[in-house]
Amino acid sequence: MTLSFTDVRPEVRDATPYSPGLSIDEIRERYGLPQVVKLASNENPLGASPLAVKAIQKAASNVFRYPQSGTPRLAAAIAAHHGVGLDSVVPGNGSDEIIDLLIRIRAIPGKHNVVTCRPCFSIYALQTRYAGVELRQAPLKRDFSFDWEALRKLTDADTALVFVTTPDNPSGYCPSRAEVLAFARTLPPATLLVVDEAYMDFVEDEKAASVLHMENRPDNIAVIRTLSKSYGLAGIRVGYGILPPALADYARRTRMPFSVNVLAEEAAIAALDDDAFHGESIRVVHEGRTWLTRELETLGCIVHPSQANFLMFGLPPDKGYSARNVFEALLTRGVIIRPLHTYDLPDHLRVTVGSAMENKIFIAALASLLAAKAR
Ligand SMILES: *Cc1c(COP(=O)(O)O)cnc(C)c1O
Repeated sequence: MTLSFTDVRPEVRDATPYSPGLSIDEIRERYGLPQVVKLASNENPLGASPLAVKAIQKAASNVFRYPQSGTPRLAAAIAAHHGVGLDSVVPGNGSDEIIDLLIRIRAIPGKHNVVTCRPCFSIYALQTRYAGVELRQAPLKRDFSFDWEALRKLTDADTALVFVTTPDNPSGYCPSRAEVLAFARTLPPATLLVVDEAYMDFVEDEKAASVLHMENRPDNIAVIRTLSKSYGLAGIRVGYGILPPALADYARRTRMPFSVNVLAEEAAIAALDDDAFHGESIRVVHEGRTWLTRELETLGCIVHPSQANFLMFGLPPDKGYSARNVFEALLTRGVIIRPLHTYDLPDHLRVTVGSAMENKIFIAALASLLAAKAR
């Protein structure tokens, strides 16, 4: 008898995998292009923190050793960086790992549910489904702000987690801290609000918007941060959670023991100390965000106000442009941005704020495409 391995868990069989941005090599090969600009995955336009790169080089000969389990030096560096208690810090293999851990620690399949927005960052939905846990989604309002009422209505005594992203991906919308706190106050006692602040350091007034930088944060709030964006370390995979201490303890006990590797730990510790690189990254994004917004609007695009390192936009209305076609045509010209059909937003596109040069190349390519179509 031949075994066929089709007998897997139904949530695995029916899974739609995460849809990543296209890679530069893929597009270079497909269209035979010498140069490709990638503005699809919200990566850092300045590259990686130079101090992090040095730390990786220095640690390279150490990779025959297992990391110290739980990467305590990194946890201490994160705690010091934010002025939070060490007992609340959990480093992870990207913040994706923290999201997955929280779901698996808190949600019992067949009993609990997880609440988030629709559309949302797809990892919340995917990992909830893979865990066999019920997912509930409240549609965003028409202006892409959060419908707190609707989120609250989906929440009940069996809601293990509510995920929100501030600023939000893909819209860039950022609610005030007061709104987030008011929502947290309405939640049932056993529900944890997870605030994903992956893009919070790009916000104009971070100190006023973040739930991390505040005294007496309510203990039903967890915060997630990443080094993938403003520190330029997407490829080495480091994120972290600032969790209620009891939950942090369970997370430390149940995660893979060596999920943050030796090089990632050294890179992250160095990057957190690289104020010059981080500050310059934020400055370049603020400048590019303003420039791109103006240029896109000059082309007639509808640009959604963004506090993050990307812009969501619609093509000039009533001209018969298709977002999908424009995305594909940009690829042939060596510019990768992000179509948003996987977010159920087929008429929108998302572009990462790049370097001044990358932004110019993108705008020039888009302008010539739109002009060609109009003729
Ligand atoms: C990019 C991003 C992250 C970061 O994920 P990592 O696993 O840390 O690279 C987290 N949340 C959102 C909403 C993101 O867009």
